[in-house]
Amino acid sequence: GKGLAVFTSGGDSQGMNAAVRACVRMGIYLGCKVFFIKEGYQGMVDGGDNIVEANWSSVSSIIHKGGTVIGSARCMDFKEKVGRLKAAKNLIERGITNLVVIGGDGSLTGANLFRQEWSDLLDQLLKEGSITKEQREKYAHLHIAGLVGSIDNDFCGTDMTIGTDSALHRIIEAIDAIVSTAYSHQRTFIMEVMGRHCGYLALSAALATEADFVFAPEWPPDVNWPTRMCKKLEQERTAGQRLNIIIVAEGAIDRDGKPITAEKVKEVVVENLKQDTRITVLGHVQRGGSPSAFDRVLGCRMGAEAVMALMEATPGTEACVMSLDGNQAVRLPLMECVEKTKAVAKAMADKQWDLAVQLRGRS
Ligand code: ATP
Repeated sequence: GKGLAVFTSGGDSQGMNAAVRACVRMGIYLGCKVFFIKEGYQGMVDGGDNIVEANWSSVSSIIHKGGTVIGSARCMDFKEKVGRLKAAKNLIERGITNLVVIGGDGSLTGANLFRQEWSDLLDQLLKEGSITKEQREKYAHLHIAGLVGSIDNDFCGTDMTIGTDSALHRIIEAIDAIVSTAYSHQRTFIMEVMGRHCGYLALSAALATEADFVFAPEWPPDVNWPTRMCKKLEQERTAGQRLNIIIVAEGAIDRDGKPITAEKVKEVVVENLKQDTRITVLGHVQRGGSPSAFDRVLGCRMGAEAVMALMEATPGTEACVMSLDGNQAVRLPLMECVEKTKAVAKAMADKQWDLAVQLRGRS
């Protein structure tokens, strides 16, 4: 059977285990020899015990776990050609020419680069005598399928990234908990949620918890935001509300591109309204805990689709990324999606927020 390996890279997210499980089982089902690569690209570069063959039962009882059971890492070595040479050698030794990479845009970019460079790397390994001529011919093509694991939902091309739904669940549980204590003491709470370039979590959480105000990177408010916000908070109190909730994405900014931090928002509230105001930074809680049903199913579907894409690949097939389009699992050109994602980041940096939202499209 064909050699196939799966690994997780970059920041972890809930649902990665479901994806790993689906890759392993679909791979075995289709007759592949399937491997785990532990600790992301670092494990690929280091080889040894980091690359182990998987069997049907090695992915039992992981679907309900958060994070990634095979580990993830950021890896400087893989950014250097020497590192990628070592990685290629480790894969060839085990007959692996199909990779499922589960990660963010950085991880997917690295995988694409690896595929493009594969021939050169093998030539060099052959020259050094690290691989045989037979191996050079037999493993001439590397195939890549990407899955996007990220809680931010910040990747262009897919409606939902794996982990976003669970993170949203974590956030609204936390806000519901805060609401009850805020009610008792008539407090105002400012909740900082993740999202450096993407306000999806902040906005969705605000809608789902009936928050009073939300700050998201894509919708920077004008200079009058303190007045508008305070007026809104006061209105709510006058209408009989005993508390206020404000949600701030960690990447929230104003129209000059200056950060709007939870601290800054608190200052404004305290100064103008003299309300008892507290900040809660949710932090890594959002990335933890068990994955939601949606993320488990998403991971299953995308993982299975990735393996099928690899099995159908021919020597010229470009790297693809699995994406959710409406309710369909589809395959899209990986680099096009990465480029689009980068274009969104650039538009944001250039303060072209409308363009950023437009480019991001449905995701
Ligand atoms: P997150 O969304 O959590 O940031 P990510 O996949 O974008 O996830 P990165 O830190 O950008 O996270 O990338 C993860 C790893 O992928 C890097 O540590 C590196 O090993 C590899 N990688 C990223 N970009 C490249 C690149 N241009 N060339 C080679 N490898 C890369």
